[in-house]
Amino acid sequence: MRVCLWLLMSSIYTISLHGNALLKLFHHKGLNADKLVLYTRKPVKIQQSSDRKDGKQYLVFLLPSVIVSNKMGSAVDTVNTQKHDDYELAIKQNLNGLQISLNYDPVKTDYTVETFHAIATQFGIMLTIVQKGTSLTTKRKGVVLDFGHGGDDHGAIGCNGVTEKIVTHAVGQKVKRLLEQNGIPVYLTRTKDQTVPLNKRTQFANAKNASLFVSIHANAAANKNAQGIETFCAHPKLLSCTAGACNAENAKRAHANGLNGCFLAQSVHTTVLNNVRSVNPGVKDRKLKHAVSQVLAGTQIPATLIELGFVSNCAEAAKLNDSRYQMKLAEGIVEGILKYLRDKDN
Ligand SMILES: [Zn+2]
Repeated sequence: MRVCLWLLMSSIYTISLHGNALLKLFHHKGLNADKLVLYTRKPVKIQQSSDRKDGKQYLVFLLPSVIVSNKMGSAVDTVNTQKHDDYELAIKQNLNGLQISLNYDPVKTDYTVETFHAIATQFGIMLTIVQKGTSLTTKRKGVVLDFGHGGDDHGAIGCNGVTEKIVTHAVGQKVKRLLEQNGIPVYLTRTKDQTVPLNKRTQFANAKNASLFVSIHANAAANKNAQGIETFCAHPKLLSCTAGACNAENAKRAHANGLNGCFLAQSVHTTVLNNVRSVNPGVKDRKLKHAVSQVLAGTQIPATLIELGFVSNCAEAAKLNDSRYQMKLAEGIVEGILKYLRDKDN
């Protein structure tokens, strides 16, 4: 007994010495695919084992040395307590690291594992579980608008108290009205000042099967001079496929969405800058950027995220707080969306 206890203690000690913390965990649900996304502090070499019994596929992914802190425990519990129609998923800590078990019927279901390097040198792992052979019968229509932050999550609080969640809501409402004037249905991930987790935003977007998704944010930086507009998309080249059906139909579709998201991002970025230049000729073009942010990774339609400017820069914060400037930004976003939709139809 004493030996066992000693072995257990020394193993736990070994993990914590060489440990690699699980930093974030997301479970994005979609119409024909779900994604589990994990972030760790350091890169992980995933070990995989599989077994097939009674027509079922049993997969185990071990993330060696990865530790779940108390803070992340409830996020893990949330994933473990969810029921899924086509698969069973369980995450647990064992002595060697973090273990993810996935059981499914290989006739109906398939999977892909991709890794990526995220901001702040975090390491990302994305497990996509896809329903085989599903095709969306309804044609995509409408736009999902995501007003960044809200409720308890204020986003960045900048110069003279200009707050990101207020700016994103104000600009977003204008975008909504303009799109509707153009006959385009709009779906909002939040309608008022409310807290909406990222998983819920992506789940909502995926359920709508809209043509595209635009997330609206404002920036902040320690350097008070930082300014300008930048736009993000999750380019497929950011992901490296490590296991599973990397070339399967569903993985290809996911990557097509990523590429289309970049066309959308480029279109929106250009038109927003052009519009804003008429009232703010010195606006800085911080360019199109590639990043696997959660709302971009979790939405299964072409998606972009725009940072409208820096609330931490006093001059730019004052503009972002001004209703006429907000209208210029909104007109630019709408023009970019309309141009993207026109280009797609041709
Ligand atoms: Zn933000």
